[in-house]
Amino acid sequence: MAQRTFSIVKPDAVRNGHTGAILAEIDKAGFQIVAIRRQTISKEQAQGFYYVHRERGFFDDLTTFMSSGPLVLMVLEKENAIADLRTLMGATNPANAEEGTIRKKYAASIQENAIHGSDGEETAAFEIGYWFAGYELL
Ligand code: ATP
Ligand code: MG
Repeated sequence: MAQRTFSIVKPDAVRNGHTGAILAEIDKAGFQIVAIRRQTISKEQAQGFYYVHRERGFFDDLTTFMSSGPLVLMVLEKENAIADLRTLMGATNPANAEEGTIRKKYAASIQENAIHGSDGEETAAFEIGYWFAGYELL
């Protein structure tokens, strides 16, 4: 059964001109793009999205970074989409990311790490609903 996940091309990757290359990697890996939107988000929108990390020391820096410039919000679909996107992304810290992963190729630091992907089914459902309306996902 096809599964949906939520992804973001983060502001660092957009700023550095890597949007097209990252979308090509996602396409080559067999994901369908169900919905896509480029926008600049507010600090408040970033705080709501990363609510689960609100107690972490990096929360303020992270939400400032995520609201620092345009990003690309996406809903992606394929068999095993959630786990497969995490594999394609590589480790959170690009220094630990496997060769060939998006973060290995395009990320500069543990914070400015090029791409986001949902880490589970419940997270994916929350994140998709946070950024997209039902009528955009038909
Ligand atoms: P994401 O949720 O963005 O897909 P992830 O699941 O690999 O990434 P999380 O632990 O959920 O990592 O952290 C969310 C984001 O917060 C990271 O992608 C990164 O941008 C930032 N982050 C995580 N750990 C740190 C840290 N120690 N210092 C600075 N930023 C961090
Ligand atoms: Mg995460």
